Amino acid sequence: MKFADLHLHTYFSDGTFSPEELAGHGQRLGFAALSLTDHDSVEGCARMAAACGAAGIEFISGTELTAEHNDTELHLLGYFVDTQNQKLLTEMAGFQVVRQNRIREMVAKLNELNMPLKAESVFALANCKSPGRPHVARALVKAGLCKSLDEAFERFLKKNRPAWVPKAKMSALEGVELIHQAGGLAIMAHPGLNRTDDVIPALVDAGLDGIECFHTKHSTATSERYLEIADKFHLLVTGGSDCHGFSKGKPLIGTVKLPYEHVEKLKAKMAERQLTTNERQ
Ligand code: AMP
Ligand code: ZN
Ligand code: FE
Ligand code: FE
Repeated sequence: MKFADLHLHTYFSDGTFSPEELAGHGQRLGFAALSLTDHDSVEGCARMAAACGAAGIEFISGTELTAEHNDTELHLLGYFVDTQNQKLLTEMAGFQVVRQNRIREMVAKLNELNMPLKAESVFALANCKSPGRPHVARALVKAGLCKSLDEAFERFLKKNRPAWVPKAKMSALEGVELIHQAGGLAIMAHPGLNRTDDVIPALVDAGLDGIECFHTKHSTATSERYLEIADKFHLLVTGGSDCHGFSKGKPLIGTVKLPYEHVEKLKAKMAERQLTTNERQ
């Protein structure tokens, strides 16, 4: 049996592994295909493609966008996106600025709570353009202000906790369109985590290509429920570990093994789309 992990993060967003380390783990675990889905970034894709190539692993370019529909936050995975697509890169650069400003706001809130953390130390630790809450949590632990990442999230960073700052998000319908115009497939990430079932029909109408049925935080029953939903709406099925290296405890790569037949279905949809595009030209 061949398997894939299509949801992975590196230090180009809030993971701790380099693309090379991640590809190395993928090889050790025997994966046939991997995708890199850093938040609001495709920066690591070129190195990941090279590292996967050297390891004999098929690589699928990807990213994970934060979006919302009717006040529900959801994450969109974009697979096979053109990593040079100008509009995608421009939009992502905008999201990255939003992320950087949000770090400053969260640090200001922490300072008001007498937690003497500096935004500069978060940026130095993150050392990437797409910083997020896990970097703030790691900086709090590093500064000795929290004992663990969990404590940092529980006390300060979780939604509605005192240092949490909502993130300005793009509309999910625009997100699907952005991924499509960059030549990719738009997939709703971990629907079981964001409880986004209600918004699935609207996204399907907007052209959603699939849903991530298999995810570390989906129980078997949850995965089965989303397989049924995928079937009902004729959606593609994806899955991945959402591994962040050591930034959320222990590395998760290897905990989700997506049967390779689903990768073949993704590729078939890409080929079909290319055919219709060529016919139109
Ligand atoms: P952000 O994009 O800045 O909102 O951060 C989101 C990241 O923080 C995602 O990778 C989440 O999985 C992670 N995250 C959210 N809540 C927690 C938590 N309670 N503990 C650890 N990581 C979390
Ligand atoms: Zn993340
Ligand atoms: Fe996510
Ligand atoms: Fe993720």
